[in-house]
Amino acid sequence: METLGSVSTLRSRRIILFPLPFQGHINPMLQLANILHTRGFKITIIHAEYNSPNPSNYPHFAFKPIKDRFSEIADQLATNRDGTYFARYLNKSCVDSFTDCLAELLVEPGEERVACVITDACFYFTQAVADDLKLPRIVLRTSGLGCTLACDALPFCSKKACFYLTKQDSDYEASVPEFPLLKFKDIANITINPQGMGDLTSNILNQMRASAGIIWNTFKELEESDLETLSQDFQVPSFTLGPFHKYFPASGSSLIEQDRTILSWLDKQPPKSVVYVSFGSVAHITKSEFQEVAHGLANIGLPFLWVVRPGMVVGSEWLESLPENFLERMGDRGRIVKWSPQQEVLAHPATGCFWTHNGWNSTLESICEGVPMICSPCLGDQPINARYVSDVWKIGVLLEDGFERVGIKMAIKRVMMDKEGEEMRERVSCLKEKVNLSLAEGGSSCRSLNNLVDYILSF
Ligand code: UDP
Repeated sequence: METLGSVSTLRSRRIILFPLPFQGHINPMLQLANILHTRGFKITIIHAEYNSPNPSNYPHFAFKPIKDRFSEIADQLATNRDGTYFARYLNKSCVDSFTDCLAELLVEPGEERVACVITDACFYFTQAVADDLKLPRIVLRTSGLGCTLACDALPFCSKKACFYLTKQDSDYEASVPEFPLLKFKDIANITINPQGMGDLTSNILNQMRASAGIIWNTFKELEESDLETLSQDFQVPSFTLGPFHKYFPASGSSLIEQDRTILSWLDKQPPKSVVYVSFGSVAHITKSEFQEVAHGLANIGLPFLWVVRPGMVVGSEWLESLPENFLERMGDRGRIVKWSPQQEVLAHPATGCFWTHNGWNSTLESICEGVPMICSPCLGDQPINARYVSDVWKIGVLLEDGFERVGIKMAIKRVMMDKEGEEMRERVSCLKEKVNLSLAEGGSSCRSLNNLVDYILSF
């Protein structure tokens, strides 16, 4: 019979993690690594060369770079509108280097046994590698439960035409029968390559089902009914221990330097007066859309903080396409930066609303600070998240007609000045309280983290 002492020496506290090399995936994976490290685990990060994290921000982790051949396609990032292309490419280009690296780590001399590997769900090829090496693979799904349900339901491969409807089609405003929360006009923006997205999602979902467990960056109270539906379909242990950024901020894994000078400008603005605008690390907009955003912000007359990532506007380096004299006209009322310390901006008392592309991290970060949203989803899971924000949780307004100055002005007014906006703020504040309860001792996320730790120690 084992004594307590021998059990603890058998249990392994060494874990290997493998993030997808994009900002919205790197942040939650490194936050998860930090969370597990504080629970006593020894962390090794295998990572692609592209968007490599900065090891000096994580002296407590070991980093193993692998060849990814991403440089062969990196010049397509601004022009190839098929977002799924890059993830599908990496699932082929990393196979050999990841397999060799993982196999070497498993037999590293003098090191303790590896308990499991945790990979981004989008790295579906890793399931077969882990199976071959007889190592449990846990998946980190960096998007919401609703996105996974929608991906499972949408007919990517069989009904491609429904992804290309335009305003002129009679069904454009109608609900999608397979996932009625979405309208056909939402999925017209979801991808330009339904076949590619169908292949990617079915590979991700199948390999999630084959995994040893799924970690979600969400909290139970936000998506309770979806969690029940999913647990019938994914019969592997599920852990909802998010939002991760509440344990550790994302600043250490930021790929672009955050401009902190704007915090002192925010300090000078009245409470809840500033419109914060950011469309994340991947989305691109056209020059005319960019100009509509600028006119919308100019016309509403409120202070604004606008993140314009270099290269975000197709065909522009940075701000060349702004309307004439825009910066001079705005004076101190508006600030434009290349990248912000987003979590601090959202937590700042001056921030009144968040005009967002609804990446899952941004959506969660806004909820956690009780900030209502204006939604301009661009691609991937963003239209799904935006529908949850506007139609399910009712904590934001979706710009139904895209980037168009009159609609923009009306949406900002609804959120910032109307009674309807006050109600949204109350609902999102309620969710903020639920987040805090879920993370507190005995709350759902706290319990889920304890379960995950016990589960990993059982391998
Ligand atoms: N972010 C940031 N500064 C910015 C804009 C974004 O630090 O100016 C961070 C943000 O806090 C979030 C991440 O970048 O953690 C973006 O992830 P998200 O899933 O929202 O969108 P993606 O970039 O993947 O489209």
